Amino acid sequence: MDISYILNELGEERDHYFNAIAPPIVQTSNFKFNTVDDFRAALADEYQGNLYTRGFNPTVDILRKKLAALDDAEDALVFGSGVAAVSIPVLALLKQGDEVICVENPYSWTIKLFNDLLPKFGIKTTFVEGSDTTAIEAAITPQTKLIYLESPNTFSFEVQDLATIAQIAKANNIITMIDNSYCSPLYQQPIAYGIDLVAQSATKYLAGHSDVVAGVVTGKKQLIKKIFEKEYMNIGASVAPQNAWLLLRSLRTLPIRLEKITSNASKVIEYLEQHEKVEKVLHPFSATNKQLHLAKKQMKACGGLFSIVLKNSSLDKIETFCNSLKHILMAVSWGGYESLLIPACAGMSKANFDPTNKRHILIRIYVGLEEPEYIIEDLKQALEKI
Ligand SMILES: *Cc1c(COP(=O)(O)O)cnc(C)c1O
Repeated sequence: MDISYILNELGEERDHYFNAIAPPIVQTSNFKFNTVDDFRAALADEYQGNLYTRGFNPTVDILRKKLAALDDAEDALVFGSGVAAVSIPVLALLKQGDEVICVENPYSWTIKLFNDLLPKFGIKTTFVEGSDTTAIEAAITPQTKLIYLESPNTFSFEVQDLATIAQIAKANNIITMIDNSYCSPLYQQPIAYGIDLVAQSATKYLAGHSDVVAGVVTGKKQLIKKIFEKEYMNIGASVAPQNAWLLLRSLRTLPIRLEKITSNASKVIEYLEQHEKVEKVLHPFSATNKQLHLAKKQMKACGGLFSIVLKNSSLDKIETFCNSLKHILMAVSWGGYESLLIPACAGMSKANFDPTNKRHILIRIYVGLEEPEYIIEDLKQALEKI
């Protein structure tokens, strides 16, 4: 489907709402029925239409159609957070005694889902180095029901071979799911490689303005319906119509935002790569990335997120650099209009920081929509302080 059609027209039945160009926020919790027969049919199968906004809602439906089409998927569910878009499908797919294979170093709350929450239901997870496809295959047991990927992850940017892993999973009757937040549907299309379910934090590029928390999962209708009927409805993590509307508004500019962010980031990366105080820049398309070939095969581009390592990193040096920034904001999240930074050391006590641990010394930078010279100037003056 043409992306211009998806973002401008798909799902927008304007003659249903006064020919308004912008879709309405259908701010209602419930929907009325004219006959008991109609009511009975709706109650019997909520997947068919509007009954109650914890299930479906017309504003959210427009968004579902667009998000499914962007991933070239049959259907989509939108959630109140990206974490819900990860946890709820996983809970829907698994039962007591099942096992999961998850790649190492996924998003922090994904680790907690597999390590802390799922064991309560008797579900075991094995973490495997994602670049090692043979190790993933070797970890499969008769109980393995799900292979969970995050390619690339959003701190150290390791990628997985999606097509090969999807093939292995299919041969073993295992469902594959990926967190595709880093790339968004514009830069990576996991379904084309045979992945079953694609989750994303819509809080990041899709919303893009640091004002909405939401998530999405896309896939085949039969899988999406299964997730919807029990866990989605029962856990109650639907998105509010107002937030769905903000996402629809954001989607109009997704391609132009990503284009500018990608171009800004590549200029900032170029600056940092030649800076004498920077040891290295980590991102999937980095010339020194061992997985460069695979990354280029699967991904169209990298967007605005990457990490750096300072030369002779110490806690003091990292903190001085971060504290000296004047425009790049220190905050979690990414994907908005504003440039952000998060040093890995902020996630641990000073006593636990180990300067020889290559994950501890990472400083993650997100380049937003500011002019690249503005960001480079800020980095330059902060690097001068160390
Ligand atoms: C932010 C993020 C999430 C969680 O999304 P929320 O919208 O914050 O709940 C999941 N995965 C990745 C890769 C993320 O960056």
